[in-house]
Amino acid sequence: MTNKDLANLIFPDIDKDVSYYENLYPERDLKDGSVVSRFAPSPTGFVHMGSLFSAFLASKVAKDSAGVFYVRIEDTDQERKVENGVENIIRDLTNFGIEIDEGVIGEGKEKGQYGPYIQSNRKEIYQTYAKHLLEEGLAYPCFCSPEELEEIRNMQEINKEQIGYYGSFAKCRTLSLEEQSKRIKNGEKYVIRLKSPGDINHKVKVKDLIKGEIEFPENNLDIVIIKSDGLPTYHFAHAVDDHLMHTTCVVRGDEWVSSLPIHVQLFDVLGFKTPKYAHLSPIMVQDGNSRRKLSKRKDAYAAISYYHKLGIPNEAVKLYLMTIANSNFEAWYQSTPNGKLEDFKFDFKKVSSSGSLFDMDKLLNISKNYISFLSKDELYSRVLEWSKTYDQELYDLITKYKDETISFLNIEREQKKPRKDYASYSEIKKGAWYMYDELFDNYERNYELPDNVSLEEAKKIIKLYISKYYNSQDSEEEWFNRMKEMSKELGYATDMKDYRENPDKYKGSVADISNVIRVVFTTKKTTPNLYNILKILGIDRMKKRIEMFEK
Ligand code: GLU
Repeated sequence: MTNKDLANLIFPDIDKDVSYYENLYPERDLKDGSVVSRFAPSPTGFVHMGSLFSAFLASKVAKDSAGVFYVRIEDTDQERKVENGVENIIRDLTNFGIEIDEGVIGEGKEKGQYGPYIQSNRKEIYQTYAKHLLEEGLAYPCFCSPEELEEIRNMQEINKEQIGYYGSFAKCRTLSLEEQSKRIKNGEKYVIRLKSPGDINHKVKVKDLIKGEIEFPENNLDIVIIKSDGLPTYHFAHAVDDHLMHTTCVVRGDEWVSSLPIHVQLFDVLGFKTPKYAHLSPIMVQDGNSRRKLSKRKDAYAAISYYHKLGIPNEAVKLYLMTIANSNFEAWYQSTPNGKLEDFKFDFKKVSSSGSLFDMDKLLNISKNYISFLSKDELYSRVLEWSKTYDQELYDLITKYKDETISFLNIEREQKKPRKDYASYSEIKKGAWYMYDELFDNYERNYELPDNVSLEEAKKIIKLYISKYYNSQDSEEEWFNRMKEMSKELGYATDMKDYRENPDKYKGSVADISNVIRVVFTTKKTTPNLYNILKILGIDRMKKRIEMFEK
């Protein structure tokens, strides 16, 4: 009986050699320095902020270097699978504007030459490599039951020994080939374990792109590589897949750092070149006096859908994620106000190796800035699309009053320093509701008159304005000059400085006059440029609103 006989007994249907796959998936034809990275989620639900962060940075390094970013689905843990898992992941990524160059692009859809990209469809490949290790005497079947493993563990705990299946505890390691084959033929259940060549007293060093040099003891555990259902463990699949798909850089959460000893050993035993690793620290949140990891169960804003519902542009979330990722990004963005992510080169060296704190205010500020630089037409079409799903009333209004809406959104936009009114599309209704009669007429109107102007006085001001000082043909300058004339007539200062110096001489200032007008037509004391608003409203609607105010 030889190792080869045992390998054939275990995998009778595996008739290919590892060289078959090595030839099937040749080196990629990319220029030097191009990064091949991947996002490798398990289909266990939606993509949350933490995994999006990895996916985003993995795609960014590939893009920056004209490389390839691909998606692989790691579904070897069949028990954790959820329905529509793949679909939800791809939807979240695409909705978020992460371009997938290769791999899984939808339920049952893949593109690229290095597939299949769903691990459960790669069973034969893993088994071929496992068979190869069996043939080489580098792996063996293990028949230990869960109870036996538990017993070993208990003993190790009592004796304060290293926990795990190794050395003299690895009972099945020393079984003879005959014994192994007999037990297999008897129908006993078994897994396949790596015969670890490691010594815990030896140290290994790995250079992590974020954490720098990490040193750890060599792995000496005979880890499971193929489970009893014939599927690989995560560790084994990672090595085989990242080798065959020619990943050059593994970007993932740092919960995997502790598995590195196993991973580098597997690459070594299999004769593969180890990829570069970049382990990201988790995003943290402030919770009272302490910090904890962002949690998909506790923090609603950990879900990507949260941002879509609110109408926060993907680009803004990505810009924000880059501020967490690269310490120099914020300064760059401030000096490049309408800066595009494509123009910023991400650098692993500038990623903080301790978790960054999630700051929603900062995210909203970035979003405000981003939205302020959208053109009027771009913003209109985005709000239209967003409201179609999330706010039918707004959708109907802005469809019906398309031109007015665009004119309103354009106030103080498309200029060097645009207004920063909205952090999300959902805030637009709160800011623009008074432009739509359907809302203005029916909402409860709370007129925010200036403190120094009584209701009676306000009525007087608006009456005078509409009868004497309103002219639809006025330029903005003419309009403002009339405001001043009117202020004079009513005993309000026309000059703010003069007013500040001699407040007792006047009833108020020209600012109060224009604010009264603003409030009558919009109820609000702050709005975008009033002159533009009045232009959009037009005389008939203004008259109607004066009547409503006077009632
Ligand atoms: N499937 C692993 C996960 O769900 C991926 C880890 C990796 O990227 O290597 O986190």
